[in-house]
Amino acid sequence: MPDKAANSGVERWNLGIISAFLLVVIWGIVFLSLLDKQDQRISDIVHYVDRAGQASVADLRRLDAIEWAPLGEDSSLGMMQPAVWFKFTIPAPRANENRLLEIDYPLLDSLEIWLFTDDVNNRSAVRQYQLGDTLPFAQRPIQHPLFLIPLEGIEDEVTAYVKVQTSGTVRLPVSVWELNQYLEYSVLHASILVLFFGFMVAMAISNLFFYVTTRSLSFLVYTGYVVCLGITLATLHGQAFQYFWPHSTWIQSRAVVVFASITLVFAVVFSYQTLDIRKYSRKLAKLLQIAAATFGVFTFVSLFAPYAIMIKLFMAMLLLAVGSILACGMWLSFQGSQVARYYTLAWSFLLLSAFSATLDNLDIVSLPVSSHYILIFGASVETMLLGLILAMRYSQQRDSLSAAQTRALEKEQEATKVKDELIELQQKSQAELEYNVEERTLELEIALRELSEVNQELEKLSALDQLTGLPNRRQFDKRLLAESRRSRREQTELAIAMIDIDHFKRVNDQYGHIGGDRCLQVISEALSSALKRPLDEVFRYGGEEFSFILPNTDLDGALALLEEIRINVETITIESDEHRFTVTLSAGVTAGIPSFEGAEVDMIKFADELLYRAKEQGRNRVICAPMPAEKEILP
Ligand code: GH3
Ligand code: MG
Ligand code: MG
Repeated sequence: MPDKAANSGVERWNLGIISAFLLVVIWGIVFLSLLDKQDQRISDIVHYVDRAGQASVADLRRLDAIEWAPLGEDSSLGMMQPAVWFKFTIPAPRANENRLLEIDYPLLDSLEIWLFTDDVNNRSAVRQYQLGDTLPFAQRPIQHPLFLIPLEGIEDEVTAYVKVQTSGTVRLPVSVWELNQYLEYSVLHASILVLFFGFMVAMAISNLFFYVTTRSLSFLVYTGYVVCLGITLATLHGQAFQYFWPHSTWIQSRAVVVFASITLVFAVVFSYQTLDIRKYSRKLAKLLQIAAATFGVFTFVSLFAPYAIMIKLFMAMLLLAVGSILACGMWLSFQGSQVARYYTLAWSFLLLSAFSATLDNLDIVSLPVSSHYILIFGASVETMLLGLILAMRYSQQRDSLSAAQTRALEKEQEATKVKDELIELQQKSQAELEYNVEERTLELEIALRELSEVNQELEKLSALDQLTGLPNRRQFDKRLLAESRRSRREQTELAIAMIDIDHFKRVNDQYGHIGGDRCLQVISEALSSALKRPLDEVFRYGGEEFSFILPNTDLDGALALLEEIRINVETITIESDEHRFTVTLSAGVTAGIPSFEGAEVDMIKFADELLYRAKEQGRNRVICAPMPAEKEILP
């Protein structure tokens, strides 16, 4: 089904087409009403069909009146008569009247005319003419598209005998004209034909240009259609023979069928293209393709086959083709195709004009204008409508194309926008992610650093005694192990001292725990400030007990140091609240090289033993002894 956008494009055309159509109709009515049907026809014609084709004009003159059958003013006798004779009377001219005889049917093959005076005894004709389009155009007595015979010099009434032999329709529309009248009439007639053919040429040229500029094949097909229709009509009116092929009777004898069937090929192809039949029905499209091909073949065949057969076949095919084109158009109109409506209208117009022209020719109805004009008027309106349809369809296609392009462009822009947004989002989230990672990493680093600081602090704190700030027992053990190994390795003496405050229980009892704690602080200060060597270290061993590790120190050195400390401590006054007191200390000192792994433990034990001895011996003293050999300390 045609889409909405395409139909709205058509709406725009409605007004244009309707107004153009109205204009043509008004133009036609005004123009045609100016034409008076020239009533110069001879109506009193009788005819005789010579089935054997053997009769001579002498035989005919002898025939009784009964054998001549009357003929209507413009009747045709159908086709395929071997020879048809016509007889009519040409009245005597008025004085000084110059006349001519016109036979308004230029497609007759052979036309023999004899003019006799009424004198029965006169056996020879006054005039005799040989005409017809099987003779070269130049042989005509008057060079005119129609058959014209000069009647000058004929003073009396004459009887005309006309023998017609033709492979097409036999018609004899004959008129006798006064020369001046004919001059006037033929100028008007020629003008109308020139107008029509000029219009066809203009349509053909403009559409050819449309084809050249747009490369849309429909324009070319339409051009072909217009050209062939024009040539067909020019042949029917006799102009084609006069101007296009005056020497070729061969072409003239076939031109109608050949050009009419090419016209039909173009018409069918044009219908196929403009109606978009494929969109509606594949079968119908196939049928039209076959029809176009058939007409194509027919065109070729008609170049060689006898005209008499071909014209009959053609008429049948024409009826079939026009009928199916119209049916197609109507069907598509009902399917909702706007183009098809105008299309049907165009063809109906041509058909109607052809139909009314035929009715007029057959004298069934009498129209006020010549059937020639009805036909060319119909053809021109049809041509114009088809041209408009073509333009309409082209614009419709262009509209839907540009609409599709716009849609595609919009979609593309939308897609690009979304893509850009996505990229931006990606970049943003990437940056955010990177930032977050950096931030988290930084936070982690800070946390780790803080943790390690805390750990160090913790280690430091766990290594130091809180009350005195001295390294604790754990540190002592570590250091002792390290120094005993070094001593063993370097074979240098290691001195160890165990120190205990005397009667510390009493201090606690007398001055309270605060006094005791204060005492411990003061004594530890005194102990650490007494150490001069950087490797010497004092530890809080536990409670009110302290220990010294003195690397690279012999017993004498150690003893001297501790003795100095002991004496110094005696002099220190400890102040706690309002109390003032002094304490003393005892110590056990030993020195030596720990000879095996674990010997340092024995050293501690030994120093502790010495301390115990000092307590026993009355306290406030230092007892020293070198580290005994392994066996001696073992119990
Ligand atoms: P001795 O001369 O035999 O060493 O007598 P002493 O009173 O010092 O006896 P001991 O060594 O057995 O007693 C130690 C006391 O020291 C026991 C405990 O109450 C006290 N003490 C241990 N550590 C601390 C401490 O950190 N602060 C205080 N104020 N007192 C402590
Ligand atoms: Mg103690
Ligand atoms: Mg004590």
